[in-house]
Amino acid sequence: MRDSDAAFYITKVDCVRPVRSSKERADLTGRTSAAIRIARMCGIIGYIGSRPGIPIVVGGLRRLEYRGYDSSGVAVLAGGRIQVARAVGKLANLDPHLAGLDANWAGETSVAMGHTRWATHGGVTEPNAHPHVGRTGRIALVHNGIVENFLALRAELAGDGVIFTSETDTEVIVHMLERYVNEGMDLERATHATLARLHGSQAIVVMRADEPDRLVCARIGNAGGVCIGLGEGESFVASDAQGILEHTRDIIFLESAEVAVVRAGGVRARRIGGAEVTHKPHHFSWDPVAAEKGEYRHFMLKEIHEQARAITDTIRGRVDLETGVVSLEDLPIKPGSVPDRITSIGCGTSAYSALIGKFLIEGIARIPVDVDYGSEYRYRQPLVGPNSAVLGITQSGETADTLAAMDEARKRGSRVWSIVNAIGSQAQRVSDGHIAMRAGPEIGVCSTKAFTTSIVDQYLLACALAMARPDVDDSRNHARVLARELARLPNLVGRALDANPIYDELARRFHHREHFLYLGRGINYPVALEGALKLKEMSYIHAEGYPAGEMKHGPIALIDEDMPVVCICVRDGVRQDGLANRAG
Ligand code: GLU
Repeated sequence: MRDSDAAFYITKVDCVRPVRSSKERADLTGRTSAAIRIARMCGIIGYIGSRPGIPIVVGGLRRLEYRGYDSSGVAVLAGGRIQVARAVGKLANLDPHLAGLDANWAGETSVAMGHTRWATHGGVTEPNAHPHVGRTGRIALVHNGIVENFLALRAELAGDGVIFTSETDTEVIVHMLERYVNEGMDLERATHATLARLHGSQAIVVMRADEPDRLVCARIGNAGGVCIGLGEGESFVASDAQGILEHTRDIIFLESAEVAVVRAGGVRARRIGGAEVTHKPHHFSWDPVAAEKGEYRHFMLKEIHEQARAITDTIRGRVDLETGVVSLEDLPIKPGSVPDRITSIGCGTSAYSALIGKFLIEGIARIPVDVDYGSEYRYRQPLVGPNSAVLGITQSGETADTLAAMDEARKRGSRVWSIVNAIGSQAQRVSDGHIAMRAGPEIGVCSTKAFTTSIVDQYLLACALAMARPDVDDSRNHARVLARELARLPNLVGRALDANPIYDELARRFHHREHFLYLGRGINYPVALEGALKLKEMSYIHAEGYPAGEMKHGPIALIDEDMPVVCICVRDGVRQDGLANRAG
């Protein structure tokens, strides 16, 4: 995986379709309310002010509850000490542990934070739930994201005598903070120093008993948002605006690589290791749709920016990031159950995702893959049987042509698998096994994060298949290495998205052109097809995706100075060939 491999989208921003009503959207996509139930995003909440903090953070966690989680916890700083309560399962399981937590609170500034976890590292247990505290019990932390280099940091800290009490990657952060504080730094400087040591995308909130007038929060990359709400003599922190809108409508959104010191009376933010930054608060009117869009102009842009977080969710709990073993909870692959061949089926974006999956499954698991459009499959005589698997890819799980193809495959004796976003949908229900995209609801009409997460699902499937093939030893070890590499993907995607001004500038320069050509070689060819499709759907500009090597066999005749050509040319084995297109 390389920096430039991350998929992204260019949209012509002044030509975006309006978001449709939920009824229209359901009609358009066949999506049911089941889609709304699949989001799993974990969340963080913080409060500093003169009211008791626990009810506020628990209320905030409740409003983030729709996002899903496996455990939860809170920390409160009162009477000079930090107290923590954590519980596995529903938020209600936390209630019995809350009584008396802020008994030490004597009306001074109250500092509290909360977390809903969806585990990436370590099981769903109370010791793994957040907040995590340092050895002295005087620093506490909540965290969303993945610390990619946690193994190296854990070894380093263990060398210093740190004894870990959880299996999480998160715990290295709190011990690292404590180390810098012990060296004499305040919490803000310790946070800058610690974040500089972490690889990956993170969102954190930290409190320290010896600095009871502040919370420090930070965001790197797009694994989780951090927004700060400004009230009258009180401030709030949350993963998204929904968590705090009840208390304030004035909200600041931290950008990637920023650290903020949040006091009851206001906020000061800096770039990591750098200069101060000023944020103008967004003022939200009481419009739940606007609140859901957060800082973005429209849902599609929001969903594009959610890709890093969605990919994190897609790999959560499925890859053991120490061993590389992949386990797909609803599609267990056993050595005896590996098919001889796979036919992947989709429509539109899902068909292009399937073409990318062909490269992944053939390359990693060495199993032949055919790709077919759902709308075409049943009009030929497909050659499938008991040793094959037909994989239907559909965001809504209700795409009629894909369902018909899956039905045809079953009649012909094949087993049927699916990759779906909407749990409970027809495609999932009729499958022998499925992999959830875990992209969260896609409100925008064009598929964005469902495309990228369905590719990650196929990558996971490829690794799981390779590991289950006793005959391909090399392939198995290779698959473990590749599966562990996935931990880096959310951050790489986040970095590609952070290059936003480039996309705006390109859109300004080229939006009046009438035709575009997208070229790619190998695995980049289906990416070119998807890019052209997106331009057509969103901007109503004619675009074609073409295999780069085929350009000279025809389309070259159409190219003149008015035809922009987008070459998908990442740093892979065919980069030079791609660049040669430019020269030619
Ligand atoms: N990686 C952390 C863990 O497994 C954070 C998970 C989250 O984002 O909730 O605990």
